[in-house]
Amino acid sequence: MLRCRDLTEDASRLMDGEVALPRRLRLRLHLALCAMCRTYMDQMRKTRTLVAARPLAPPDRAQEDALIARITGAAPRD
Ligand SMILES: [Zn+2]
Repeated sequence: MLRCRDLTEDASRLMDGEVALPRRLRLRLHLALCAMCRTYMDQMRKTRTLVAARPLAPPDRAQEDALIARITGAAPRD
């Protein structure tokens, strides 16, 4: 049987459907039997969803200046 390490190494490719059928079946069997890896996959799925929902545009200059000022306590650049 595969180990948890095997599953974590293949987790992204498994979610993307990039794992060949024999390996995929073994990974699915491991998931059926291992609650920790099911939790891991669930967390990873949620993380991917959050990352995908992020806006594509970078922060604009004013947002960047405000953030730097908040972090450093420095006055915003002009
Ligand atoms: Zn496991």
